[in-house]
Amino acid sequence: MSDCPFCGLISDKSSRVIIYQDDMVTAFPTHAPLRDGHLLVVPNAHLEDIFKLDAETYHHLFDVARKLAAAVESAYQSPRVALIVSGLEVPHLHLHVCPIFHHGDTDSGKAKLATPADIERVAETVRAALK
Ligand SMILES: [Zn+2]
Repeated sequence: MSDCPFCGLISDKSSRVIIYQDDMVTAFPTHAPLRDGHLLVVPNAHLEDIFKLDAETYHHLFDVARKLAAAVESAYQSPRVALIVSGLEVPHLHLHVCPIFHHGDTDSGKAKLATPADIERVAETVRAALK
């Protein structure tokens, strides 16, 4: 979809913010994080509704989210990592993977805009923890 920011990022082969990418899914830090380490995992194909995903992509999306959650937990020393699917902001299905420390840490009203430098730093931190 030409005006979708996620589709644009997925096809940008020079992007420095992509943490993980394969032929089905892509992961990168959100531009509006609840806290450092807040990532999005998206299918490469533009689709809005998670319940309309084919089973293979659906399972793979969650498998990749689990691997990223382990990296986020390790990199940010968080007691838990939240997995959230809401999908009312950008109309391209995305799973939020976010380190959490306290009840209420998933309140989307607390999200703040990240700078490009913040986003690159989070991408580097999580990529290093994935290895
Ligand atoms: Zn899209």
